[in-house]
Amino acid sequence: MRTRSSWRGEAARAFPAARFDEPMRRHTTFKIGGPADCYVEIPDERGLRRAVRFSRANGPPLFLLGWGSKLLVADAGIRGLVVRLVGAFERAAFLSGGRLRAGAGARLPKLVSLAAREGFGGLEPLAGIPGTVGGALIMNAGTPQGSIGGLVRCVRVLDPATGKARTLHRGQVRFGYRTSSLGPRIVVGCELQLKACAKDDIITHIREYQRRRSLTQPIHSHNIGSIFKNPPGLPAAELIDDCGLKGAVCGGARVSTKHANFIENFSQASSADVLELISRIRDRVRAAHGVDLELEMRVVGDASV
Ligand SMILES: Cc1cc2nc3c(=O)[nH]c(=O)nc-3n(C[C@H](O)[C@H](O)[C@H](O)COP(=O)(O)OP(=O)(O)OC[C@H]3O[C@@H](n4cnc5c(N)ncnc54)[C@H](O)[C@@H]3O)c2cc1C
Repeated sequence: MRTRSSWRGEAARAFPAARFDEPMRRHTTFKIGGPADCYVEIPDERGLRRAVRFSRANGPPLFLLGWGSKLLVADAGIRGLVVRLVGAFERAAFLSGGRLRAGAGARLPKLVSLAAREGFGGLEPLAGIPGTVGGALIMNAGTPQGSIGGLVRCVRVLDPATGKARTLHRGQVRFGYRTSSLGPRIVVGCELQLKACAKDDIITHIREYQRRRSLTQPIHSHNIGSIFKNPPGLPAAELIDDCGLKGAVCGGARVSTKHANFIENFSQASSADVLELISRIRDRVRAAHGVDLELEMRVVGDASV
């Protein structure tokens, strides 16, 4: 195992375009996060295998970054190699019979509009979710109207421990409420099964989902969607609202006044601001309702919740 300074030297040689001490606030929709030791964009599967080999041989842990739309990165940043899948991983195309093949780096908004253009339905409930296919599969992103897991035919994954890739078929992956059994594997791509539909109907549904979203969510602020999972019974947003926490502020972080399960970075919030607000929300909801709110967002780096 190498020291941090020596593996950084190796990384600079192995990945000439790597960026060192890259501020993660540039790569998260929250616009929060300290420096990653090394940030590298990988354009194809061969490059990904190389990054995996590098991590195994030299010691720095590998962190897969999607669009950063479900992440709170610690103020101390991320130790190791942060990998974003670009280039070939961003491609998406239809095969025969409504099968949509997409790389892990393809963005959901692109998939939703591609499917609408081609006249295939199924992705409409994901309209307005900003993440990538990789992040969406890991999180089983979705809405009460449907999640990505329900559309999966197969997922191509790479095992970071062995560097070997394999295809998992539908029955080999478990998808639950904002969770899947895919981690800690790296998602490389997937095939989704969509169904032929009238284009006008698809577009009408997408517009309706987006309209509802813009009425109920602060879509133009810096946020990461829902902070907490909905517990059985009342939605998390109602529990938080009921405690009078809409608009509660901690440093530059604020509970959205539009949707109480969203936290907004309204003024250069730190990760610590958000974590303190989360802790306050949890305490108040536990005291008032006896409910322990579970995080939906992911915390990365050295931070305690
Ligand atoms: C305005 C707004 C609205 C949102 N609405 C919704 C919603 O309605 N429903 C919903 O479910 N979510 C919603 N989200 C949250 C978010 O967009 C989704 O969870 C999304 O799927 C996360 O994808 P990402 O690419 O941003 O992943 P990231 O946030 O980058 O990462 C999330 C997790 O996935 C892992 N990961 C990413 N890519 C890979 C890969 N290739 N292989 C292995 N692991 C990987 C990361 O390591 C991390 O653990 C919303 C977010 C915002 C900002």
